[in-house]
Amino acid sequence: MHKITADWVCPVSSKPLENAVVITDDSGQILAIEPREKHDPASLETHRGILVPGFVNTHCHLELSHMKGKVDTGTGLIPFITGVVTQRNTSAEVIAEAIEKAEQEMLDGGIVALGDISNAPDTFAAKARGRMRYHTFLELFDFLQEAGTEKTFADGLGVYEQIELAPGSARSLVPHAPYSVSKKLFEKINAFNPKSNITVSIHNQETPPEETLFLEKKGGFLDFYGKFGISLDQFEATGKSSIYYALTHMNPENRSIFVHNTLTSRAHIEAAQAWSPHTFWATCPNANLYIENRLPDYSAFLDTQARVTIGTDSLTSNWQLSILEEMKTIARYQSYVPFATMLRWATLNGAQALGFDDTLGTLEIGKTPGIVLIQGVSPDWKLRGEAMARRVV
Ligand SMILES: [Zn+2]
Repeated sequence: MHKITADWVCPVSSKPLENAVVITDDSGQILAIEPREKHDPASLETHRGILVPGFVNTHCHLELSHMKGKVDTGTGLIPFITGVVTQRNTSAEVIAEAIEKAEQEMLDGGIVALGDISNAPDTFAAKARGRMRYHTFLELFDFLQEAGTEKTFADGLGVYEQIELAPGSARSLVPHAPYSVSKKLFEKINAFNPKSNITVSIHNQETPPEETLFLEKKGGFLDFYGKFGISLDQFEATGKSSIYYALTHMNPENRSIFVHNTLTSRAHIEAAQAWSPHTFWATCPNANLYIENRLPDYSAFLDTQARVTIGTDSLTSNWQLSILEEMKTIARYQSYVPFATMLRWATLNGAQALGFDDTLGTLEIGKTPGIVLIQGVSPDWKLRGEAMARRVV
């Protein structure tokens, strides 16, 4: 049994409690949350700081961990993708070692669950050990070429079938992004996944050329496709933002995580929320700064009561894999976002998005959410630059 206390306990499901004790069994399941005066101080593990539920990271590409520092910052998405495509191949040993290290970094920083994009089976051995709850998003793209859709789908399914699910983990097929998935591929993905109660994700509204492609069939993606010898003759501009193409072709009965959203407006959020009540918005602020030097407008998400979650993206587009570092970036550049709101994004919203809120996301009796100690939050609930987080249960 563990009896842990700190200056504050933030259950997320209810208001912060001063000087409370969280009592868990040896498996980490919460048995009670009680006032400190009911306990002999000598029986307690006492910390300075605040206790929060384990973090849920809703967007990563663990299989790209070996490319840390390889792709330049600040170039924009298209040069970034080109860098990934041309540099990702290396030896299986190097890839496996980097995955192992990246998983350990996340565990040490308090992450208890991960929504992870896979194109290849490289991460499956690590995931099968079940050191955290994983949702593997087996990601498909056919570069809008319906002539290649069947092969894309068959190859993807071959990888999907190699996933070994540890207890509590899940998987689904997902579309990569509006600019890389044909209508036919969306249909095949929808037909394959369960009709409801499953999570899918899609990269969304990440770079201005994505919008230009859908609005006018112009811009950087035409050059990008041309360079790889891919014809867009069959593609027609929709005259609307890329998110509307996604909404037209995705299944509103599934939980859908829209990822990045750096160009997403209030109107887009409202349209998605009218389309489905199961809509989530993963923000990866450090990756957005790494790739595009741009952040989403979080006020649009606050004003629309959007369910935001937090992702780290991969070590190819980030300096570390830390949910606390993502929260610090939000606090630094858009400091009107309250700490309590960011904490909800980092825990409960992420757990709901992945369908893992049965055990994770809040400090509530019966759950095994992991307990994280955050130090470096000021008395007026501002996250300081030097704040640190570590797992204590
Ligand atoms: Zn991504």
